[in-house]
Amino acid sequence: MHKTFLSTDPMSCRHHPARLQSRRLKSMMLDYNSLLLALGVSAACLAVTLMGSWLVRRSETVLLTATVGLVLVVSGIFVYSAYVNTPEKWLGVANFVLFHAGFATIWGAGKQFLTGRVFLPAIAIRAFAAMVFSVVPMLSGYDGLAFIADNLAIALLLFATARQYWLARAEAPAPLLGITALYTLTAISFFLCAAVLISDGKLVLGHAPSNWAEDLSLAVCIAGMTGIGALSLALHQWRLAARHRLDAITDPLTGLLNRRALFDQYGTRPMGTTTAVIVFDIDHFKSVNDRFGHATGDRVLNVFAGELSAHCRTGDTAARLGGEEFVLVLKEIMPGRAELTAERIRRAFEAREIHIDDEVLTCTVSVGVAPGRSKSLDFDTMLSAADKALYVAKRAGRNRVELASYLKAVPVEATRTAS
Ligand code: GH3
Ligand code: MG
Ligand code: MG
Repeated sequence: MHKTFLSTDPMSCRHHPARLQSRRLKSMMLDYNSLLLALGVSAACLAVTLMGSWLVRRSETVLLTATVGLVLVVSGIFVYSAYVNTPEKWLGVANFVLFHAGFATIWGAGKQFLTGRVFLPAIAIRAFAAMVFSVVPMLSGYDGLAFIADNLAIALLLFATARQYWLARAEAPAPLLGITALYTLTAISFFLCAAVLISDGKLVLGHAPSNWAEDLSLAVCIAGMTGIGALSLALHQWRLAARHRLDAITDPLTGLLNRRALFDQYGTRPMGTTTAVIVFDIDHFKSVNDRFGHATGDRVLNVFAGELSAHCRTGDTAARLGGEEFVLVLKEIMPGRAELTAERIRRAFEAREIHIDDEVLTCTVSVGVAPGRSKSLDFDTMLSAADKALYVAKRAGRNRVELASYLKAVPVEATRTAS
C-alpha cells in the first residue's frame, strides 16, 4: 500500500495532454515509501557523522548515546517501510520496539547532555512502558489502537527530549533553542497523527495509518532530522571550543584558575582601592615530596586549593601561580579584613590532617598580603608587594602572615598630600 503526496484525477483519454502532463508530474513526485526511505538514509548518515565525532573524542559519550538512539530509529524506519508494504503483525511489533527504544535513547542523550550522566535504567523504563502500550494491542489485533499508543508515546518522548534541551539553553542559547523548537515541532506532528487516528475511531486498521497527519509528520521529520543534525554538530563544536577555552585557563591539578588566566583577568589594570592581593607559598613543600612522594604532594596542593576556594566570596579570584604558590584576589574588602582572611586560611590549613597509610601529615603556609590603599595600584605592583611580604614571612620563620611594606609609606604620602 503506497500513499502519494500528489493525487491526480483520472482522465478518460489515456493520451489526453493533461493526463500525460499529470503522469509525468506523478512520476517525478516521490511516494510516501520513498520519502520514508530517504528519511531513513539521511538519519543513517547523521548517525555515522555523530559516531565519527564520538570516535574523535571518546570522552563525549553523549554522542555515542545519540548515535545508538539514531541507529535504533533508523532500523525502525526501515522496518516501518516494510510494514507499509506488507502490514504483518511481527513487522509492526518490531517497528514499535525499535522506535520506542530509539526515541527513549534519544531522550537519554538529551538528559545526558544536560546533566553529564548516563541514565540507562530511566531510558529502559521509558522504552519498556512505550512498548507495552503499543505492542500489546498490536498482538491482540487492535492495530489502530496500537498506532494511537505508538504515536502518543513517541510524542511524549520527543516533548521530554525538547525539555532537556530547553533546560540546558543557557549553555548555548541559539542552537539549543533551535533544537528545542525542532523536537517540539516533531512531537506535535506525532501528537497530530494520534489525534487523527483517535478522531477516526478505528481500533482495527489492517494497514499502516494513512492520513494527512502522517504525510505532515513525515515532512516535519525530514526537516526536523536535518535541522537537529546540523544544530547538534554545531553544538558539539561549540562545546569543544568552550572546553578548550576552559582548559586553557584552568590548572589541571587543583581546578583553580592558572597563572595565565590570572594575568589575563587583571594584567596591568588598576586594582581599585578596595582590592587586596594575597600570595601563599606552602612551607617546606619539597620535603613533603621527598618524604611521602609526589602523589602525596599533589594531595597537599589539592587540600590547600580546597581551603582557598572555601574562603572565596563571589567576585574573589583564587589561582595557582605555579608549583606550591597560590594567589587570592579579594574584591570590595574593608581595610584590615584581607590580613584576617589570610590568617584564617593559614590556620585552617595548619589544622588539616592528611592521612597517609598510618601516618598523619600536617603542613603550613606562609602568606604575603598587599591590601588596597588610598592610591590605586596595578595588579603587577600589588603582586610583587605581596611577594616581598611573603619573602619576609619566610625569613621570619614561615607559617605566618606578613603585610606589604608599602603600608608603612601610606601615612607619609598621606601627610604630603595633606600638606
Ligand atoms: P619554602 O618553605 O622555602 O617554600 O620551601 P619549599 O620546599 O616549599 O620550596 P621549594 O621552592 O624549594 O620547593 C618547591 C617544590 O614544589 C619543588 C617542586 O618539586 C615541587 N612542585 C612543584 N610543582 C609541583 C606539583 O605540581 N606537584 C608536586 N607534588 N610537587 C610540585
Ligand atoms: Mg615556592
Ligand atoms: Mg614553598
